[in-house]
Amino acid sequence: MGYRFRLHVSALPGRPDIVLPKHRTIIQVKGCFWHGHRCLKGRLPHDNRTYWSAKIEGNQKRDKRNERALRRLGWRVHTIWECEIRRTALGNLAPRLHGILKGRKETAERRLASDWAGS
Ligand SMILES: [Zn+2]
Repeated sequence: MGYRFRLHVSALPGRPDIVLPKHRTIIQVKGCFWHGHRCLKGRLPHDNRTYWSAKIEGNQKRDKRNERALRRLGWRVHTIWECEIRRTALGNLAPRLHGILKGRKETAERRLASDWAGS
């Protein structure tokens, strides 16, 4: 789609999946089971329910903490779920990504410009 991005940037909280620096935008691609999506794929197994629900709650708490930290740093954070990618032909995902990124570049550039002006 022509957007510049970086993968798994370890300098940022939680080592986010897809980072679009020009748009000051992060896209997390989350596995439905491991991150507790409310969909068929996110359902807990019948065995060892206590173990799995604690495990997945822990992951969700960590996700929230990282996303808060990223927002504080001025990033906008979006989630795309595994089940959305499977359900959706890539052709349908493209407009969604355009929607997420539309207008973000100008905003990020204005922000940078005002940071420069302030220093
Ligand atoms: Zn899902």
